[in-house]
This record gives sequence, C-alpha cells and structure tokens, in this order.
Amino acid sequence: MTSVRIGVMGGTFDPIHNGHLVAAAEVADRLDLDRVILCPAGQPWHRAAPPVAGVHDRFAMTELAARADPRFTASRVDIDRVGPTFTIDTLRDLRAGFAAHDPETSAEWYFITGADALDQFMTWKHPLEIVELAHLVGVTRPGHGLRNPDLPDGRWTLVEIPALDISSTRIRELLANGDPVDALVPAAVAQYMERHDLYRGGPS
Ligand code: NAP
Repeated sequence: MTSVRIGVMGGTFDPIHNGHLVAAAEVADRLDLDRVILCPAGQPWHRAAPPVAGVHDRFAMTELAARADPRFTASRVDIDRVGPTFTIDTLRDLRAGFAAHDPETSAEWYFITGADALDQFMTWKHPLEIVELAHLVGVTRPGHGLRNPDLPDGRWTLVEIPALDISSTRIRELLANGDPVDALVPAAVAQYMERHDLYRGGPS
C-alpha cells in the first residue's frame, strides 16, 4: 500500500496572502508533505467579527493562490458544509473523501494553522478526536510561541515562519487606505481584489 502525507491548512483567508503560502510551503518542506489542501472557513463563528469578504470571494482567492505551488489545492469542504466551521468536520470530511477516492493509499494527516488560532484549541469541538485524526502544526513568527500551550503531548509542532509578519488585517487596512498590497499577495489575488472592489470600503 502506498502512503502520502497530507497537510490541511485552515484559515479564514480574508484575504489569503503570501505569509499563508510561505508557511504552507515551509511546513510541507520541513515535514515532507506531499500536498497541502487550503481550506477557507465557511462560517468562522469563533471570531469577534464576521469575515469582511464573502465566502465565494475568499474561496476564489484561495483557488488563485493555490496555483503558487504544485503541492497546493483549494478545497470547498468548509464552505459547502452548512453551519459553523468546526475542524473536526473538516478532517472527517477530507479523510472520508480521500478514503473513498483512493482506498489503496494510506495517508498521514497534518492540520496547519496560525499558532494564535491554536491558543484556545482545547475549547474546540472534540479536540482529542482532532488530534487522533491529524497532527497539529501551528505556524508562528520567530520569537512568538504559543501563549497557552495546553495541547495534547506529542501531537503538535510549532514552525517559525519569518514571512508571517504579513497579516490579513494589515492587508485590509492598506486596501481601505488605497495603498498597494502587491508585495503581500499573489498577483492574481491582487487583481481579483481590485476587480471585485474588495476591502476598499473603509476600516474593517
Ligand atoms: P484566527 O483566530 O482569525 O487567526 C488567529 C491568527 O492566526 C491571526 O493572526 C491569523 O492571521 C493567523 N492565521 C489564521 N490561519 C492561519 C494560517 N492558515 N496560516 C497562518 N496564519 C494563520 O483564525 P481563523 O483563521 O479564524 O481559524 C484558523 C483555523 O482554525 C480555521 O480552519 C478554523 O476553522 C479553525 N478553528 C476551528 C475551531 C473549532 O473547530 N472549534 C475554532 C477556531 C478555529 P491572518 O489573519 O493573517 O490569517
């Protein structure tokens, strides 16, 4: 039986940016992942404010960004499911789809996200089942650990990514001020945001 190592990168991606893409590539290199599935959250209910861009725009930008690396694909798994986005459902759905499509291949799964997002991990839905289904990978800026590393032993890894100084919040602020973001997002994403007049309507 052949075997693959699959990363699942979850985020609100409002918008996706080069920091996310560098992080995905760096984690794939360091952990020897064959592919990384970029999964925009459909309803990131846990955030203080809802996403600024709609789910279809966030998915379209993720799909364009996924062209940056042959190991990347974008998945609708979290946007086609009705209701709030829970990582346990992301992993169950992706694993079930993989097993149905490729029953002869075994897979090891890694869930990659911002280390900040993992701070509250033990309050997520079914955290102990999540770490049965996937190893957690928190990506972080150099010098920033987990504030609250209350995660199951041996089931998580932190990876420092210098380029993570980029943030979606900063990109939205720049766009709201009419400033360029070309160095921060793939060209196709910049063009998409311009064509669809995203994030230009003021503070967000
Ligand atoms: P968030 O709390 O909005 O993000 C916290 C920080 O992490 C931000 O600085 C954010 O920067 C960064 N970040 C988020 N995703 C990242 C990524 N893929 N790579 C690098 N940095 C990232 O987090 P979120 O985006 O809403 O959620 C992250 C993932 O965790 C999603 O897949 C979400 O569904 C999952 N989650 C699940 C549960 C649950 O199952 N109960 C609860 C919370 C989160 P940027 O703004 O620049 O991305």
